[in-house]
Amino acid sequence: MEEVFTAALESKIFRKRWVLLPDYVPDVLPHREAELRRLAEVLAPALRGEKPSNALLYGLTGTGKTAVARLVLRRLEARASSLGVLVKPIYVNARHRETPYRVASAIAEAVGVRVPFTGLSVGEVYERLVKRLSRLRGIYIIVLDEIDFLPKRPGGQDLLYRITRINQELGDRVWVSLVGITNSLGFVENLEPRVKSSLGEVELVFPPYTAPQLRDILETRAEEAFNPGVLDPDVVPLCAALAAREHGDARRALDLLRVAGEIAERRREERVRREHVYSARAEIERDRVSEVVRTLPLHAKLVLLSIMMLEDGGRPASTGEIYERYKELTSTLGLEHVTLRRVSGIISELDMLGIVKSRVVSRGRYGKTREVSLDADRLAVENALSEDPFVARLL
Ligand code: ADP
Ligand code: MG
Repeated sequence: MEEVFTAALESKIFRKRWVLLPDYVPDVLPHREAELRRLAEVLAPALRGEKPSNALLYGLTGTGKTAVARLVLRRLEARASSLGVLVKPIYVNARHRETPYRVASAIAEAVGVRVPFTGLSVGEVYERLVKRLSRLRGIYIIVLDEIDFLPKRPGGQDLLYRITRINQELGDRVWVSLVGITNSLGFVENLEPRVKSSLGEVELVFPPYTAPQLRDILETRAEEAFNPGVLDPDVVPLCAALAAREHGDARRALDLLRVAGEIAERRREERVRREHVYSARAEIERDRVSEVVRTLPLHAKLVLLSIMMLEDGGRPASTGEIYERYKELTSTLGLEHVTLRRVSGIISELDMLGIVKSRVVSRGRYGKTREVSLDADRLAVENALSEDPFVARLL
């Protein structure tokens, strides 16, 4: 422990490590000039006391949507307060808030309504919000980030609809504008037309970053985050290239860079090198795998364990073998088993999550079968599985 503390204290790697954390919003966002300007144009009428149009921002993860929205709000708020105009941005992340109740509470609390932790319905919280707002004046800009999580929960669809209509319930001294943000194109396509026409008055699509763009982004952030000269010249290009290979995700690129720095620090090295980036990639992947496995439903964990056990036999397992092993495991635990069809579905889900890979092979006159093998760090999977008390009994 003492050694870890000393290493951290003596580290010459980072100047401001927190500049690389995902929630930090820098003042400069290279390659997002057009999006910053467009959103600023949409919201600027608020400074004249006019209601801005609603807007919908979408694009893949890590394309800078949250950062752009937060930076524009920050500047808008500063400008409004220097002018003495009543403009209040309210930022709420629907995924972090988890339920429609908490989303509604977060908005209500931002305008000074006290909401108990439980005990009211979403509708009641909403009524309190409306009552309060109608006594206020000014322009309220509600940013609903990861808005696609809202309609996934009971009552969320209804809350979303009502928020898009909220101005009809308020007088003409107070106005609410909405900015929705989502990573999910499916959400945008499946929106109810009346919600879509309201929320999508203006639509902003965020394209993925290219590798050279990611390099600029990383360089700008790295300058602040690291001490001068500690990064080998090929570190930033490597992080950018690895992240661009996925889909131009700036979060991924920044994570690689930060974790590479942390690894160099832990190893008490003076410089960050390529090798640390590769270790960072493995470490991030292990963390992702544990997170995914940990949150699987019990039967999916049992199917996964069956696949692992069969793989110990040295060859990929067929769906039939997996099902037999899975049934043995459930009966050992005294549980009911699910159908072969369901197990097949679970295998496909594990495949999509990148935990196993499966391929269909022809067995001549015996027809076709699916061969399944583990496609993730075995130790990470095993550790995550053993955290489940049921599965731990089998391991
Ligand atoms: P999204 O909301 O689209 O998933 P974020 O805005 O959260 O993406 O961006 C992911 C990470 O990358 C954040 O840490 C953000 O600050 C950073 N980032 C994204 N775009 C840029 C940029 N153009 N310049 C600097 N940092 C950026
Ligand atoms: Mg985001």
